[in-house]
Amino acid sequence: MANLVKMAKNRELGTAAFGGLIVGGTLTAVLGITDLPLASAIGAVIGGGIAAYLLYGKIGQGATAGMLSALFGYPFSIGILYILLIFGVYTPPSGPTPSMSTIQAGVIVEFLLNLVAGAVGGLAMSSARRPSATLEASAEMPASPEPRQSRYCVQCGAQLQAGTLICPHCGARQPQ
Ligand SMILES: [Zn+2]
Repeated sequence: MANLVKMAKNRELGTAAFGGLIVGGTLTAVLGITDLPLASAIGAVIGGGIAAYLLYGKIGQGATAGMLSALFGYPFSIGILYILLIFGVYTPPSGPTPSMSTIQAGVIVEFLLNLVAGAVGGLAMSSARRPSATLEASAEMPASPEPRQSRYCVQCGAQLQAGTLICPHCGARQPQ
């Protein structure tokens, strides 16, 4: 678990897509149980958003991460649904069993839908996070060590390193 957190903090594309597919795929499966229409697209949007969120700071990759998480999240969700089906938690909607070609078409449509949804979620999250990213970057600028480094001894005027208490040149105590 601690390893997962550490991985997430690295914010790499693969890690982000992995996080997105777990969250998005699980969500899709949960929504799928409730027979919600567009369950997998909703899961893909949120999964894509999660993926982009994990990539915080790498805005350009947000959509890619979202698409990747949607791409892999879909089979992941089918896997979860299948397991739930085996254990009787999930009962597929009753009615005539659709033909294999209908199921195949449905899977392809859902895959494409998820790709778009994942990209949308990734882009939405990236742009939502963008203002705070620039804000944080600009807030970090003044806090850079530059002003602290240009300290000078109150007595002899020698340049001192940050945090120096006693001037190495004249021995004067510096106010903090
Ligand atoms: Zn001095």
